[in-house]
Amino acid sequence: MSNWGSSSALKHFQMGETIFSEGDPGDWAYIIESGRVEVAVSDNGQPRTLRILTSGDVLGEMAVMDTAPRSASAKALEETVCVAISSQQISDRVQDADPVVKLLVNTLLHRIRNTSQVASLSHLKIPIGRQEPSSEEDDKGLDKMRLESELRAALDNQQLRPHYQPLVNIQTCQILGFEALIRWFSPTRGHVSPGEFTSIAEETSLIIPIGQQTIEQACRDLVQLQAVCPNSSLFMSINVAPRQLSETDFLNDLQAVTNQYALEPSQIKLEVTERVFMEDPDALATLKECRQAGFYVALDDFGTGFSSLNYLTRFEVDGFKIDRAFVQEILTNQRTQVLLTSMLAMARGLGMQTVVEGIESQEQLEALQQSGCDIGQGYLFGKPLPFDAVKQLLNQELVHNSSKP
Ligand code: C2E
Ligand code: CA
Ligand code: CA
Repeated sequence: MSNWGSSSALKHFQMGETIFSEGDPGDWAYIIESGRVEVAVSDNGQPRTLRILTSGDVLGEMAVMDTAPRSASAKALEETVCVAISSQQISDRVQDADPVVKLLVNTLLHRIRNTSQVASLSHLKIPIGRQEPSSEEDDKGLDKMRLESELRAALDNQQLRPHYQPLVNIQTCQILGFEALIRWFSPTRGHVSPGEFTSIAEETSLIIPIGQQTIEQACRDLVQLQAVCPNSSLFMSINVAPRQLSETDFLNDLQAVTNQYALEPSQIKLEVTERVFMEDPDALATLKECRQAGFYVALDDFGTGFSSLNYLTRFEVDGFKIDRAFVQEILTNQRTQVLLTSMLAMARGLGMQTVVEGIESQEQLEALQQSGCDIGQGYLFGKPLPFDAVKQLLNQELVHNSSKP
């Protein structure tokens, strides 16, 4: 008889013992630790061996993953020890998986079950074709793959373009620089939200060429914008994903672009979120090198997520961008006001520059002007605009400033 160790998931099978039989429900999968297991199907009443599995092989996972009955039997050929994996353990993993991975796994499982070898076992009543109508989950997976393919094509066809949102001196409202925010207008989908497609790009290596193209365009456009206002040293903020920073060539490529356009590194601000502290350590090392080379590094969306105070003891940044969630409540929630004021005081104490994002009203601006933040960004000063419109905005500002007494 098999026995369950009370304190371990190890299961022991004697020689000749059945581990599971065709038609059984898929309650456990197994990793073979030692011994040998024969997997067989019955073909017109005769057992037909499919394979012999040994130490390190996984067994019985299919029925656990797709909850169909076992389509084969497993028998220990000698004394065998397995680690049992519960259906709960597997379904937790499958639930948390990326929808694309889930879709691929389901498709693969279904295809395996429909191979002639297994499908011929009509007594198991394994349906041929799709097991069930496409689920919402599968649709999500398919849509994600479609979006990714279209994004790849959009990159090749130059359909991705940065727009530029002004960053202003909070006291004078004078434009100091811009943030490059990528835009995708797809011929089939229309405007796709950057939140949606940048996260897909970041899950794959697509963010690397997209990011490089954005850096290149933003630097080229910055030179032209600086030409409109030769007396002010406009800067450009560029969002950078951890995956881009993990590339060994990131700094070299960045320097090649800034050299090509004769830009000072200090005119480029790299915006990173605190995810950079949690992922690949190489990304953090690259960021350090970027700072050493004179590029400015700002921590974006500050105050959201897991908040980075602990990281800040180990890694210096040049500035914070306080998330717009704080500005939204600055006039209505006293706790938010206290938190915002404390974050600004902390930044000042650390000698860092502060940007507050998402300023939409004059009242919010006035409250922030009192609180000692340096730079403002938000619809009040300007939405992200295409290059030509930004150039026009700068020209207007120039005229406006020159007409001041
Ligand atoms: P983010 O870096 O936090 O960018 C600020 C977002 O706030 C932008 O959204 C901007 O349009 C929006 N915003 C600015 N002012 C206001 C305001 O006053 N009110 C409101 N409601 N929203 C405001 P957007 O352009 O949709 O970008 C979303 C996110 O996509 C960005 O968040 C950034 O995480 C990502 N993203 C955009 N461009 C790039 C890029 O070139 N590379 C990478 N890696 N991510 C990018
Ligand atoms: Ca940003
Ligand atoms: Ca932000």
